[in-house]
Amino acid sequence: MKTTTEQLYQVFTQHPVVSTDTRKIAPDSLFFALKGDKFDANTFAQNALEAGAAYAVIDNPEYATNEKFLLVDDVLTTLQDLARHHRRQLTIPIIGLTGTNGKTTTKELINAVLSQKYKTLATQGNLNNHIGVPLTILTIDGSHQMAVIEMGANHQKEIGLLCSIAQPTHGLITNVGKAHLEGFGGVEGVKKGKGELYDYLAEAENRVAIINSDDTTLLEMQKARTLNNVVYYGQNNNADNLVSGKLLGNSPYLTLKWHDKTCSSYNVQSQLTGSYNLDNILAAICIGRLFRLSSDQIDQGIEGYQPKNNRSQITKTATNTLICDFYNANPSSMFVAIENMDKLQAAHKVMILGDMFEMGTESAVEHTSVIQKAMSAQVDERIFIGKDFSSQQTEVDNTNLINTTFYLTAEDAMKGLKQNPITNATILIKGSRGMALERLVEMF
Ligand code: ATP
Ligand code: MG
Repeated sequence: MKTTTEQLYQVFTQHPVVSTDTRKIAPDSLFFALKGDKFDANTFAQNALEAGAAYAVIDNPEYATNEKFLLVDDVLTTLQDLARHHRRQLTIPIIGLTGTNGKTTTKELINAVLSQKYKTLATQGNLNNHIGVPLTILTIDGSHQMAVIEMGANHQKEIGLLCSIAQPTHGLITNVGKAHLEGFGGVEGVKKGKGELYDYLAEAENRVAIINSDDTTLLEMQKARTLNNVVYYGQNNNADNLVSGKLLGNSPYLTLKWHDKTCSSYNVQSQLTGSYNLDNILAAICIGRLFRLSSDQIDQGIEGYQPKNNRSQITKTATNTLICDFYNANPSSMFVAIENMDKLQAAHKVMILGDMFEMGTESAVEHTSVIQKAMSAQVDERIFIGKDFSSQQTEVDNTNLINTTFYLTAEDAMKGLKQNPITNATILIKGSRGMALERLVEMF
């Protein structure tokens, strides 16, 4: 006999903690036996029960040996259905956000702001996919007054699926740029894929889109649909903006000034670096205003947020200031990071850039254009790491490569840095996750 979603929901109300990893079984939890590329957790379901799970949801009847095993057609779809069902029982606002860059940072900032007034729940870390979103939704309980859900995607229909689960009342696309080009099928594909959030918001009158009015791509995407309820923010002082703001300083921490329609003006000292983070901060301020937080509450939320996740995180060593941005990289975030270094006021500026992954057929062109951008920036030294950057070295004017080094691997770069140590510098370190450039930190 198969267990239906309604029946499973009854069980969930008695055992509202979900486990998916047999090494971390919460007592009395519901274990979901998910499948990965290299494992089938049906085979671990018995272990999960022995480790303290109350029930195990499985989809292989061979393992359903007693009433503690709840048999379903497909464990992953069941997890998503259960989360969707749970969401329907909740009446709280949910802010769903996606975009190419800045989702996690913006999510953290929104949560830092909203939690000054409300009991919130936000996506933990980067749990933003077809498993992370349902797991996050299932952690919302009666005490939460609102939730902030990050939605990630690297192919079409993914955001649509995540919206059907999280059912956001409010939606934000941070920006649309060049990332996961392979899976999305180019930038137009990224627009379509991220636009699924706007498609969802357009389906009902009471759903609100929060849009950066400086971003022409987002405005174009808005025009292509009928969004019933739109709130704007931006740097442009547009009269339609609920919140406008501008940068006052960035050396290296951002200071900014914002105001809303009441024309009051507030200064904020953030603990973030990178001028691109201004948009992320303004999004969070706008949402704070939308949910009627006072300006003091908003400022406290922004000023109190300290990144600890290698996204534009400043780390001081004995002699250097590191801008640790090695969590990820794609052409769009590389460009803004380079522009930021270009403008930064610092004595000796060094950029260490690692390969960008998942670029598909665009890889060579994109690596070349990042090299060119980096060569035109006002910095004192550039180091490129990885086979994709190295293979494009011949594409740039060699006579111009002053204070510029290419290394095939991070290990080679570490050897080079050992021989020629960098001191008294401000150093940006940025590359795709697979480059694991955190290994370089010990060199400074
Ligand atoms: P992921 O797709 O891995 O979940 P994300 O969208 O959540 O990434 P963050 O983790 O917040 O993004 O930031 C990753 C990096 O993107 C930052 O370290 C920074 O370099 C860059 N970034 C952050 N915000 C912006 C922005 N608004 N525009 C461009 N680049 C940004
Ligand atoms: Mg993220």
